[in-house]
Amino acid sequence: MKAGYVPSLRDVKGLPKFHSKKQGRFSYTTNQTNGNIRIESRDGVTFLRIPKFPEGIPVRLHRELPADGLIKKATIKREGDRYIVAISVDYPFEKLQLVEKVATSKITALDYSQSDLYMDSEGQKAEYPRFHRLIEKRQRRQNKSLARKKERAPKDKDGNPIDSKNYQKALKNYQKTMAKAVNQRKDFLHKKSDQITNDYDAIVVEDLDLSNLAQCLKLGKKLHDNGFGMFRNMLKYKAERKGKHYIVADRFFPSSKLCSACGTKKENLRLSERTYTCAHCQAVIDRDHNAALNLKNYGVHTLSDLGFLAEPASV
Ligand SMILES: [Zn+2]
Repeated sequence: MKAGYVPSLRDVKGLPKFHSKKQGRFSYTTNQTNGNIRIESRDGVTFLRIPKFPEGIPVRLHRELPADGLIKKATIKREGDRYIVAISVDYPFEKLQLVEKVATSKITALDYSQSDLYMDSEGQKAEYPRFHRLIEKRQRRQNKSLARKKERAPKDKDGNPIDSKNYQKALKNYQKTMAKAVNQRKDFLHKKSDQITNDYDAIVVEDLDLSNLAQCLKLGKKLHDNGFGMFRNMLKYKAERKGKHYIVADRFFPSSKLCSACGTKKENLRLSERTYTCAHCQAVIDRDHNAALNLKNYGVHTLSDLGFLAEPASV
């Protein structure tokens, strides 16, 4: 590995870390046992009742719970300066029937792209806004202001240190900014994956170990900003619900090395080559578009093998 990343003990998955009062996930989960978690309305205000707060916490419902749903558990967590409760509900859900005959035009493939989330087999980019970049300036300013403040003010008249109000205020602002970027990104990914799973009957993606990639290629920040892993999960469950096919190409399928026009394999393709030029058939095509087309072909063959293709494969 040329990138020079030396793994430390911390990288070993499953190694426990110390709990911190200040960092990490602030969350609390409580499970349902015979009706102790309830959503109630009193005088036009909605309350969440959990065992620790039997008197109820006023909440704003982001959407109605399904009428015949059973609350399984409630998780309360802090995101920036907000408290959010996620209620997990069991309810009869009808999955749509699997599409049995998929037309080739209803298949799309997404090739993971460092700069723009993905490129699809139509040659369309995701047009992914760099949410963290957009707030970078504000984030830096707020972080600086936070660093200048003391967490605790000197001392009160009895000699006890007191928490600094200004520090708390600055911390809140900073967390708010960070949470905004995270939520914007999630929102974008939800909308995109909804659109794709509506428009197409089959979605092909490559098998990527993203955690590995982030470490080895020193693309860490960009890659994590990107959220492709989260995006794939969304595509998967949304496709399943809508009866669409979600196909993951084999880990060893050389999607970027093949020529999408003639199928010749180019062994010495460098990462820096953004354009794929085929020595065999002289095809010249954008690297990511070429990879996406290969993935689509992979999907066509897979569906054809399984008997789900509407028309015979043309390749
Ligand atoms: Zn070729």
